[in-house]
Amino acid sequence: MNLTARSRKRLIGVHPDLVRVVETAARATSQPFQVSEGLRSLARQRQLVKRGASKTLNSRHLSGHAVDLMAMIGSRVSWEVPLYYRIADAMKAAAQDLNIPLEWGGDWTSFFDGPHFQLPWDAYPKSANPALMSAPPAVTDRAEVLAGKRLVIGDRGEAVRSLQEQLSRLGFDAVADGAFGPKTRAVVQAFQTRAGLTADGIVGPVTARALRLALKRS
Ligand SMILES: [Zn+2]
Repeated sequence: MNLTARSRKRLIGVHPDLVRVVETAARATSQPFQVSEGLRSLARQRQLVKRGASKTLNSRHLSGHAVDLMAMIGSRVSWEVPLYYRIADAMKAAAQDLNIPLEWGGDWTSFFDGPHFQLPWDAYPKSANPALMSAPPAVTDRAEVLAGKRLVIGDRGEAVRSLQEQLSRLGFDAVADGAFGPKTRAVVQAFQTRAGLTADGIVGPVTARALRLALKRS
């Protein structure tokens, strides 16, 4: 089976090892699946905990070390538990083939979470996700950056501080220090993912407009 474009978009910001497991499993699985969620914002995590849909504010989704998969029957999503055992079989086999450790939420005794797969904490610390930390910023137009039309990693100053304040007002974990570092970039990517935009970590006109809209709604 093939992952849809939407599923691929939802894998942006997810640790490359986990992406490889998902892609390998997708090719081999007897139960077709798609990706329902990857990287998650702190604001959304807070909502999920409030609703009882998640048990922790320390979710691996926040750092891109977890994905949720959904079983597909044709174009319909199914939450029937047995289907998730079949997906888990494919995910575990792929992880083993690739020699990547993997945990399944269906194996948790405290809280059965069949759609959830994550990289273990001990082998994959929270701060180490190449998809978020060291990926080079996408190609940017330096003239636009200089004209203040775009904000990218490495930028400093009032415009950055204002961006961080906006993100923080929207519930993201952003410190308004006026320096656009890897943390700010990760927060921008989380916001972009939530807004359905390409999570490139660059604040151009489209992301800026989405921010203004989100602030109006909040
Ligand atoms: Zn999950």
